[in-house]
Amino acid sequence: LLSMKHIKKSFGDRTVLKDISLDVAEGEVVAIIGPSGSGKSTLIRLATNLEELQGGEVHYGDLTLYTEKDGYAPTAERQKINRLYGMVFQHFNLFPHLSVLANLTLAPRDVLKVSKEEAVRTAEGLLARMGLADKAHNYPFELSGGQQQRVSIARALAMKPQIIFFDEPTSALDPELTQEVLAVIQELAEENMAMVIVTHEMAFARHVADRVIFMADGLIVEEGPPEEVLDRPKNPRTQAFLNKN
Ligand code: ATP
Ligand code: MG
Repeated sequence: LLSMKHIKKSFGDRTVLKDISLDVAEGEVVAIIGPSGSGKSTLIRLATNLEELQGGEVHYGDLTLYTEKDGYAPTAERQKINRLYGMVFQHFNLFPHLSVLANLTLAPRDVLKVSKEEAVRTAEGLLARMGLADKAHNYPFELSGGQQQRVSIARALAMKPQIIFFDEPTSALDPELTQEVLAVIQELAEENMAMVIVTHEMAFARHVADRVIFMADGLIVEEGPPEEVLDRPKNPRTQAFLNKN
């Protein structure tokens, strides 16, 4: 589904990703953990076109986003790829001037060209699923952080993505609100949505991930099933990180 090979990234003369390869299969849930500054956000921002790729290659299924040799794919191919993934951020990033319903229907109407009726029907279904059926006509500022984050997950789902990237989706939330958001992500995992989740919630990673990746200093230091990486880490850096978290 997603294949990133030998990704390198620098900001100025600071190298942030040295040589990272990440494959995600259909239905797979990958959790990325690691210390602050290790390049976790940068990696998923490169996968989702929010940062410019500089080295290596990125493919989504048969489509190529970027190769070091040929650069970025032509616009038409990039647009196809843009529809394959969704992204959920730490700070929700909802459109503040739009109602919850309008946040969910905007991209399906603009990008997928679905009818207003169908976009509204899909949005209402997603809101019901998130336990937010009564919030359709509220604005983001009228919702709790946990509710806003569930709206942003619904907004990502409204585009019917094949894979969703989450960048610390709960780190701006109080513990009780964290649980309601993690429950929604857990449900998506059970429905075999492919996901890449950067998280500091080790218990959640253990529970939900098929594979855990520990990153440090722009490299993948260790990866494997959660019970190996989290419970029996081999690398001293992973051990030190887990002892602190
Ligand atoms: P955290 O756990 O704190 O979110 P992270 O693992 O997500 O950390 P990144 O945000 O990917 O780390 O940042 C990796 C490094 O790249 C950091 O040193 C950061 O300062 C630097 N960096 C990230 N984005 C930029 C940018 N746009 N310009 C310059 N430096 C950047
Ligand atoms: Mg980050």
